[in-house]
Amino acid sequence: MAYSILIVDDDKAIKDYVEAHLKCFNYKVKSAENAYNALKILKSFKADIILTDITMQGMDGLELTRKIKKTFDTDVMVMTGYSADYSYEKAIQAGASDFIFKPFRLAELDLRIKRVLREAGFKKERYKLLKELEKLAITDALTELYNSRHFFSQIKTEINRYNRYSRPLSLLILDIDFFKAYNDTWGHLEGDKVLMRIGKVINSCMRSMDTAYRYGGEEFAILLPETGLQKACMVGARIKDNICSQIFEPEPGTKRSITVSIGATELVKGEDFRSFISRTDKALYRSKETGRNKLTYIVSNPDNT
Ligand code: GH3
Ligand code: MG
Ligand code: MG
Repeated sequence: MAYSILIVDDDKAIKDYVEAHLKCFNYKVKSAENAYNALKILKSFKADIILTDITMQGMDGLELTRKIKKTFDTDVMVMTGYSADYSYEKAIQAGASDFIFKPFRLAELDLRIKRVLREAGFKKERYKLLKELEKLAITDALTELYNSRHFFSQIKTEINRYNRYSRPLSLLILDIDFFKAYNDTWGHLEGDKVLMRIGKVINSCMRSMDTAYRYGGEEFAILLPETGLQKACMVGARIKDNICSQIFEPEPGTKRSITVSIGATELVKGEDFRSFISRTDKALYRSKETGRNKLTYIVSNPDNT
């Protein structure tokens, strides 16, 4: 892949000379004779490196560097004459990745460009790895839903949002019925397949603002921001019906379905996350107590189902 370079220099002779030679080194090159034109070109030209002179009429190279670093994720290299009153520190403080004195040998310029490109590659790679690690840290490996650590962080965030904007917030907790028996009969690996499928079904039934978590071994939590209890119960019922209609084949020719019990509540003013979760758990427990395969909701008063 050819890297792209934008050269900015008001000295036409230098600009043309550097441009011609960098093209020979197989870079895709564009050039501008002042900082304003450079910014215009950058609107449609995705440069990997901007190589700018410092001393220019109007906006100088340092100001251009600052502007570029504010808007673009692009490396800037500055070039200046020995006699110019600009220092290496100033260029680096403005955000430049490297600094080269004119006149320079083209081979040195090429090496410096390659070093900046290599470091940019490392930086991108590090950023990608960091994002992957961040994702792994909040993801449940089996179901690919979020994990319980993320649940506890998000429920606090959502409660804070509720307190600030007074928008409704609901919670569903879902537990598989008689899952121990399923595991005991068909084995843990078959049980895992059920958990994976449930993760997919929950994902397919949620709206874009809802988030789902594997809350415990065979328990799931779904946080529903901007959602009152009635709507949350509708989402819960949709999830429950979808899970019931799944067919599992723990061994060839044996078809099984499973059911889940759900508890649903809506956050009330002044409630903390512990009470919110414990009230939802209580609703789930009532679903279990009263026959399973059902959704129970509890309104603010815990005795009022
Ligand atoms: P109930 O209807 O009362 O919820 O009954 P249950 O059997 O589902 O509940 P119980 O709490 O007795 O058992 C939960 C089971 O969930 C036991 C355990 O083997 C299973 N389980 C928990 N985590 C996993 C997991 O990661 N994989 C598999 N396959 N099973 C799991
Ligand atoms: Mg359980
Ligand atoms: Mg269970």
